[in-house]
Amino acid sequence: MILVLRPDATLAQIEHAIERVKELGFTPHVSRGQSRTIIGVIGDETKPEAENFKATPGVEQVLPILKPFKLASREFHSDDSVVFVGKVRIGGGSLAMIAGPCAVESYEVMDTVAKYVKAGGANILRGGAFKPRTSPYSFQGMGEDGLKILKDIGQKYDMPVVTEVMDTRQVELVCKYADMLQLGARNMQNFDLLKECGRTRTPVLLKRGMSATVKDLLMSAEYILAEGNKSVVLCERGVRSFEDSTRNMLDMSAVPNVKGQSHLPIIVDPSHATGRPDLIPSMARASVAAGADGVHVEVHHCPEKALSDGPQALLPHQFLDMMGDLRRLATAVGREFAEPGRA
Ligand code: PEP
Ligand code: MN
Repeated sequence: MILVLRPDATLAQIEHAIERVKELGFTPHVSRGQSRTIIGVIGDETKPEAENFKATPGVEQVLPILKPFKLASREFHSDDSVVFVGKVRIGGGSLAMIAGPCAVESYEVMDTVAKYVKAGGANILRGGAFKPRTSPYSFQGMGEDGLKILKDIGQKYDMPVVTEVMDTRQVELVCKYADMLQLGARNMQNFDLLKECGRTRTPVLLKRGMSATVKDLLMSAEYILAEGNKSVVLCERGVRSFEDSTRNMLDMSAVPNVKGQSHLPIIVDPSHATGRPDLIPSMARASVAAGADGVHVEVHHCPEKALSDGPQALLPHQFLDMMGDLRRLATAVGREFAEPGRA
């Protein structure tokens, strides 16, 4: 349930309400808005004591949260959330462009791709050091050496970095190097991993599972939020379908669908959704037009030699052209790609 405090509630009343929530065995999640504070009360709402919150000083209303996801719901937090990754804002009109190679392959490749994506206007650099590959014989990533390279190159080009974490045992290590943790489609319902990432204060990019519903995605976000990490960005990356001319089926309706139900930012990854560089720019434009808070794409200067996902990589000049179009589109819809440092 939600306790909506009166606009004139005093600090002492707010503190008292939080204490009462704890005393009765619930977990409080406080959201301080411009005009009023609301307290998300997580726990068994059917407890008879819950009724008494109506009598707590400073409390104006006690509302049930009807959605199964509570902290992720708009009922709990009516304004759009803004997530900071390093100095880059995502949400509230600021767009993220997350770009880079699928995997960190070497210092030289990472340096070259970063130089190109930075020049094109990307504000967050990506690259996988732990790769979830369909085949155990495919390149599995460079591990910690890859994380070090990613961090170094991110600093060189003044871009925060995002990279995938696949296992609870990697979380501490990845947090040492990354500004944002990526939870991949294959791990969207790895609940222990969600909880472990939720215990950190590093922002999380949560990708939709390939057979997950929008509700499943929001329930997974709830796991992270419930552990106290409020910096969650969702990512639509396509779902499995009968269509076999694209890698997945991009569910563009997920963007406004999520926005209607949740305050969390959502971005789109047309690279993994389509698997086709000829389709990525138009789907990126559609994402911004549909209200997404950013785009995530893979770029490589020599896809032929890429160690993973080469066939879907955009060439640097394709990335540059796409960004030109996206910037014009963003201006037309009253948003912009946030520049690192211009928070
Ligand atoms: C990736 O971003 O490299 C990746 C593996 O994505 P997904 O988890 O969406 O398949
Ligand atoms: Mn990839």
